[in-house]
Amino acid sequence: MSGLPLPASEPDWFNAIPKVELHVHLEGAIPLPALFELVRKYDSGAAGSLADLEARFRYRDFPHFIETWVWKNGFLRELDDFAFIAEAVARDLRGQHVLYVEAFCSPPTSRRAASRSAALSRRFGEAWIGSPVSS
Ligand SMILES: [Zn+2]
Repeated sequence: MSGLPLPASEPDWFNAIPKVELHVHLEGAIPLPALFELVRKYDSGAAGSLADLEARFRYRDFPHFIETWVWKNGFLRELDDFAFIAEAVARDLRGQHVLYVEAFCSPPTSRRAASRSAALSRRFGEAWIGSPVSS
């Protein structure tokens, strides 16, 4: 047999290769522990355990997906919530060896939407590179 030896496990191999993400919705890429923290912030009773939360995201069908999507987004209420998930997603993607990301989010609109967008981009970038970004 020729070629490089295969890694011991597929997840290690998959995590090691460099990747790009060309279309990531922050609201759809929240790492489960971060979402658990967010749910507990607003409604500790709704969270249950981390395993309960994971089970909630095993979709039965498309209507259940939509219902779960809307439920989850109900816990994204403030700029800090979006910044929190932006940082969590950036760290998660960096851990997966994602080298380039085009990320989107849909925070509630307001007169301050532009400044919110800039703040989110800065927090995402800082989490991405692991240090403050100059503005
Ligand atoms: Zn999209």
